[in-house]
Amino acid sequence: MDPASQHAPAKTTRKSRTVTSTHPFQRRLDEFSIGVDLGGTNLRIAAFDSEFEPLGNIALPTRARDGHKVVLQGMCKAIRQLIGQFADEHSLTGIGIGSAGPLHLPSGRLQRPANLQGWHDVELKAVIENLLEMPVILESDANVAALGECYLGAGKEHRTTSLGMIALGTGVGSGLILNGVAWHGFSGMAGEAGHDPVYPHGAECGCGSRGCLEQYASATAVMRMAREAAETGGATGIRHLLASNSKATARDIAFLARSGDRGAKQIFDTVGFALGFTLASQINTLNLPLYVIGGGVCASWDLFAPRMFQTLRELCHVYRLTEPADVLVYEEARTNVLPALLGQDAGMLGAAMLPYLHRRPDAE
Ligand SMILES: [Zn+2]
Repeated sequence: MDPASQHAPAKTTRKSRTVTSTHPFQRRLDEFSIGVDLGGTNLRIAAFDSEFEPLGNIALPTRARDGHKVVLQGMCKAIRQLIGQFADEHSLTGIGIGSAGPLHLPSGRLQRPANLQGWHDVELKAVIENLLEMPVILESDANVAALGECYLGAGKEHRTTSLGMIALGTGVGSGLILNGVAWHGFSGMAGEAGHDPVYPHGAECGCGSRGCLEQYASATAVMRMAREAAETGGATGIRHLLASNSKATARDIAFLARSGDRGAKQIFDTVGFALGFTLASQINTLNLPLYVIGGGVCASWDLFAPRMFQTLRELCHVYRLTEPADVLVYEEARTNVLPALLGQDAGMLGAAMLPYLHRRPDAE
């Protein structure tokens, strides 16, 4: 991200004007907010000005096994550092945090998070607010990524405020934005499509079920399937890769697949089937104009998308009725399934929007 000096506005000229052009919420040009993306592997914290241009950011590993206190203390220290850095020039609107879930909302209590092992029943919101001595707004990580995509990414690009997002990272998250508002369900646990069953007798999942989407479409799942393929024989290319590189990632498996390796291609075929299977239910149920796929594994779109679209055509009645002429080009009044546009910043951007979206009208 660019250094703060390139983005710091001149106080005298920007102080009191408001910005209303492309966003549904009022904000002043001298404001800034903090967005946090607390994932199972990475913890990313950034300050954004009121145009959502980055002012500064801090990235840390999420060492969940060190316990929530250590991780959250490090996170709050980074938040305070960014606030201290920019508070002279800007006025802080608030702090938004997107966290791996499930989260009970509005309390902000974690509920057996599959990717933050040992954090069950952590009162996340209360612990963070105690450490910072100021209020924060908490959302699921997938919901903030979906909000980011809605207002600054694919939703903005295609002029729609309703979309479903599936984010393929360490786990699989999903967020649902209906008419510009994140759908929470009655207790904040909507958007757990990562735990939709795909194979009822499939791999055990951290959530306690079997065969969840997360076990077939996350970066973790790609590596598990690679190890299984290497162990059961036949997948010579994968076996050689894993033997020569103990730090191989899903990206390396994708590279192998693009080189033509059959075993590696089969893994991404499974990713595509699992995504198509889950999306078929969402599309039949919700009839939204746009579903976006984000997260690190989305970089392998070329490898999994053919099977994903094939599965949608085979299994999804509404998709067959509403498929666009070209699956890569957004078409009005059709069911569009497209890659997300914001990359790994979607979560932080969506989190940084939360203070504006939650602001009371009388606080303007
Ligand atoms: Zn699960």
